[in-house]
Amino acid sequence: MSLIRCNECGSTISNQAAFCPQCGYRPDNLNRRVTRPAPAPVQSYSGMAIASLVLGITSIPTIATIIGPICAIIGFVLGICGSRAKDKKHGCATAGIVLSAVTLAIWLVIVLVLIFAASYTAGQTL
Ligand SMILES: [Zn+2]
Repeated sequence: MSLIRCNECGSTISNQAAFCPQCGYRPDNLNRRVTRPAPAPVQSYSGMAIASLVLGITSIPTIATIIGPICAIIGFVLGICGSRAKDKKHGCATAGIVLSAVTLAIWLVIVLVLIFAASYTAGQTL
């Protein structure tokens, strides 16, 4: 006998039970279902993957501020860590890396243009 989670109320019940004693839910596959091992390490990688995607998206509208590149750098690092996720969150990590990298590239170009423009203006006036 092992314990599984009720699909309806989420309480822990025996896989031998015909129905959930908490809510009476009676799933067809309750007795047949084999208990899966909890994917504990994958969960944290998935969290990093999602955080990477969120930071990557956040970095785009905030690119002109100091928040943009900081979000992009953190998002990039989290994306690399989160890309170890085995589930479909892997795509979030990849998107997070791409968005962060694009933001950093654009930010770098803007900074270089500003430096160039500043030195050019300085050269003109001198
Ligand atoms: Zn239940």
